[in-house]
Amino acid sequence: MTCQGKNPRPDEAPAAEMEFMRHALRLARIALERGDTPVGSVLVFEGHIVGEGIEAVRADNDFTAHAEVKAVQDASRSLNTWDLTGCTLLTTVEPCFMCSYVIRSARVSRVIIGRATPHIGGYSSNYPILTALNIPGWSQSPAVVTGVLEEECSALFQ
Ligand SMILES: [Zn+2]
Repeated sequence: MTCQGKNPRPDEAPAAEMEFMRHALRLARIALERGDTPVGSVLVFEGHIVGEGIEAVRADNDFTAHAEVKAVQDASRSLNTWDLTGCTLLTTVEPCFMCSYVIRSARVSRVIIGRATPHIGGYSSNYPILTALNIPGWSQSPAVVTGVLEEECSALFQ
């Protein structure tokens, strides 16, 4: 695992997870068509998608409507719990500070990222909220894989 890894080892992103990331990419394209930042996220539990999120800050006039937050909300409704232990989040763009807080609070077990977010990413920035271990009372850090379908995820920003 690396912050800026471009070529994750095959065992870090199995074929099924690549398919889930492709689904997140489809959601990101919907966001782009709506005039929002192209971010899409899915939450997977036991091999099935249990939550989806499409970035909708402009569509909803809501700064909290980030794709990852919406995916966590959707999964929590589906599974009828706030505790998403055992879930994997796949997101086309590295979660920001806000989303990292939500992901961490919901106890998501794994996070798979497409494109890095410089400066305000919760993993690769100077404020790694997603993985910091020095916050008393916080749950275990999720395992993080980066650089999955990075080119496709980044291409949406051009
Ligand atoms: Zn965010």
